Amino acid sequence: MIQTTQTDVVIIGAGPSGSIAACLLRQLGHEVVILEKMTFPRFIIGESLLPQCLTVIEKAGCLEAIKQAGFQKKIGATFQHQGQFEHIVFDDKFSAGPGTAFHVQRGKFDKILADCAERKGATLHYQATVIEVEPEFNNSTVVYKDSDDTQHTIKAKFIIDASGYGRVLPRLLAIDKPSSLEPKGTLFTHIKDNITEGSHSREETLIVTHPQHRDVWYWLISFSDGRSSLGCVGSPEFMKPYQEKGIEGLKQLVNEDDVLAEILKNAEYDTQDYIINAYSGSVSKLYGDGFAILGNAGEFLDPVFSSGVTAALQSADLAVNVLDKMLKGQAYDWQKDFVDTLSVGIEAFRCFVNNWYTGGFQDVIYTKTEVENIRSMIASILAGYAWDTDNPFVSQPNRRLNALIKICQD
Ligand code: FAD
Repeated sequence: MIQTTQTDVVIIGAGPSGSIAACLLRQLGHEVVILEKMTFPRFIIGESLLPQCLTVIEKAGCLEAIKQAGFQKKIGATFQHQGQFEHIVFDDKFSAGPGTAFHVQRGKFDKILADCAERKGATLHYQATVIEVEPEFNNSTVVYKDSDDTQHTIKAKFIIDASGYGRVLPRLLAIDKPSSLEPKGTLFTHIKDNITEGSHSREETLIVTHPQHRDVWYWLISFSDGRSSLGCVGSPEFMKPYQEKGIEGLKQLVNEDDVLAEILKNAEYDTQDYIINAYSGSVSKLYGDGFAILGNAGEFLDPVFSSGVTAALQSADLAVNVLDKMLKGQAYDWQKDFVDTLSVGIEAFRCFVNNWYTGGFQDVIYTKTEVENIRSMIASILAGYAWDTDNPFVSQPNRRLNALIKICQD
């Protein structure tokens, strides 16, 4: 049976970008229906937040709920290579804004944001999988299947695709594009960490460069409940044999780094392994007649600087500003105020990610050269303030980072 309903905006996906877009749209008075294929809470990776994203969460009216949830406070990141530790404290940042963030279990975090959107009046259907779209401003059609395989049709003025790795519009409209970044593989899990006090600060995301392979790195993201997210990223060829062994492969990787092995010597591996390969992706256009694409569904670079949720929320904020004008019949400019503005931060992160894997940015992180005066600018980027064009590493990322790399390598 086909049932048809009508709304202003259909949002595909109730991840962070979808739920925050829904909150912002509701605050501006627009009707919203969110279609989410899973039931929440559900497991998803992406647990280390950056301070910048709290500004968008606050604007969407969800910050108090996040603060009350008991998530692990995060003050910065520690990089470790061959026993050398370098701490980046977010509060040392150059840009204005929050100086701390959280390590969040995404099942719980995403549910809080989705509940927040519902409380603001968005209609949310779980177990609603979008299977067809026909975007056209003021006359868009979305077809979804519910858990009984019943098809439903929604007519909307506009479609927002916030479907993350589902990449619904990129697939259905054939606007998917390979990322400019080399494909990577990852192997990860959650552990009961049993970390001894003093060996690792739970308030910092730990990024470990593999002792022999500088393009291979690990993350350790500790939660407030004695558990941690643990994973490793490398080229698909490097990761394949470890991925084939699952949890044993991850333990083997941990034991290849003496420092990480010591921190995790009492860890209990009580959860299944997860594997994702070739996670980066892009699109040939981020908006079109009757649609816009947010977050991972549009562009995802790399997890090394934990920028995914921050970029996803930034895209939601920018897109809603333009869409609000469009729906109210005011002048709007998707290219300038959404695509071009979003790309400022994406390109800054892309530059840092590229230089992480080629090793140049690692030379900056692990340098013995005194670079105090620009440390705050680097801390700003790593805290997510990659849209603050007063920071020279944002306005001219390649030029400024290459110059800094040269200083650190000389
Ligand atoms: P998602 O969070 O993916 O949400 C999309 C939602 O859409 C999902 O709930 C999905 O069920 C739903 N959906 C999909 N298809 C359909 C459909 N057909 N119909 C209806 N609903 C649909 N980011 C960070 O900020 N910090 C980190 O530490 C971090 N670590 C990462 C580690 C790895 C290994 C990887 C691969 C990524 C990491 N990320 C991290 C990135 C982060 O996971 C994403 O950037 C973030 O989840 C993007 O949010 P989103 O709202 O765009 O999409």
